Amino acid sequence: MPTDFSATRAMFDLPEGVIYLDGNSLGPLPRAVPARLQQAATAEWGQMLITGWNKAGWMELPTRIGDRIARLIGAEAGHVVMGDTLSIKVYQALASSLEMNPKRRVILSDTGNFPSDLYMAEGLCRTLGPEYSLKTVAPEDVAAAIDDTVAVLMLTEVDYRTGRRHDMPALTAKAHEVGALAIWDLAHSAGATDVKVAEGGADFAVGCSYKYLNSGPGGPAFIYVAPRHAETVRPALSGWLGHEKPFAFDLDYRPGSGIERMRVGTPPVLQLAALDAALDVWDGVEIADLRARSIELCEAFIAGVEATCPTLELATPRDASQRGSQVSFRHPEGYAIMQALIARGVIGDFRAPDILRFGFTPLYTAFEDVEGAVKILAEIMATAEWDRPEFKTRAKVT
Ligand SMILES: *Cc1c(COP(=O)(O)O)cnc(C)c1O
Repeated sequence: MPTDFSATRAMFDLPEGVIYLDGNSLGPLPRAVPARLQQAATAEWGQMLITGWNKAGWMELPTRIGDRIARLIGAEAGHVVMGDTLSIKVYQALASSLEMNPKRRVILSDTGNFPSDLYMAEGLCRTLGPEYSLKTVAPEDVAAAIDDTVAVLMLTEVDYRTGRRHDMPALTAKAHEVGALAIWDLAHSAGATDVKVAEGGADFAVGCSYKYLNSGPGGPAFIYVAPRHAETVRPALSGWLGHEKPFAFDLDYRPGSGIERMRVGTPPVLQLAALDAALDVWDGVEIADLRARSIELCEAFIAGVEATCPTLELATPRDASQRGSQVSFRHPEGYAIMQALIARGVIGDFRAPDILRFGFTPLYTAFEDVEGAVKILAEIMATAEWDRPEFKTRAKVT
């Protein structure tokens, strides 16, 4: 049965009068989440107190929810676990990869990657010593830069600014051919595209839950470790909950079985409860349908904007197979234009220096939202409504 996206849309609590095209930064509130949070706070935490760890299954939340995400990213069940933030999971995957490839010293990434991923890599190299380095090349030069000096290729599948999508299977295969490992950051692909980490051969994959998976601000990240590495990978962040027997309180660390070892400390139970409820929206969703719908929404937006706003320059690849689920346009006054759009109820975001970014999320974005957004954007551009002082002062979070 084809996925019913009007039914999934009805499962979200979107504010009246808002066209929300920023689910790629923070997903909106699924209607079922507040009641689940209330239950987790009052019936579980309030009444069960510490017995909630056993009685309410809090301790299993990271792996149980990891399995729900595994389906969405094409991973084998039992090989995804939740915890920490994405930056931490990037560090964990990198540190483990470098240890698995001890003769090599180079982390290869691209200049389109999200800065936090690059900062984490730089920080890790500094800790490991001067022989280690992070090398970044332009996104289109990645394939050519994969050589036998590279220990690990670390890429974000979908570029957070332009929406360009890397070819995961091809680049991973190239990395493996020269003896390198591959880490894929799925921040802008999990829940947005037809990600296939197992088929794509990823050694590690990481991603966050508060963007397209709608867990709410501060929701935990996930990490996937390929089954072939599950029992040999050594977790650099060897916290007690990744131990084989946390409650034996041994003085020596022994990694837990499989993906359990990638856990670090106490899981964020309330955030996981919110995520668990948010994932119910995905139960009837086929990823192939999601991808098809996402392409249709993005194409409609590109066609509409190009027909009405000649000064906006498309920054996203025109070929749908080479992009994720967002569309970006460049304009030197991008910041002010986005503020003017937000003032009119169309919420996208601005990414320095000149990118207007719009996320399309089939679960709750309808074609009428695309039409409405195009119409308002065209008006703002035609009347230069953005050219007002109040749209030019920058807030702390953009
Ligand atoms: C959103 C995003 C992050 C954010 O990391 P946090 O630790 O969750 O704040 C990191 N990397 C990429 C590629 C992202 O898109």
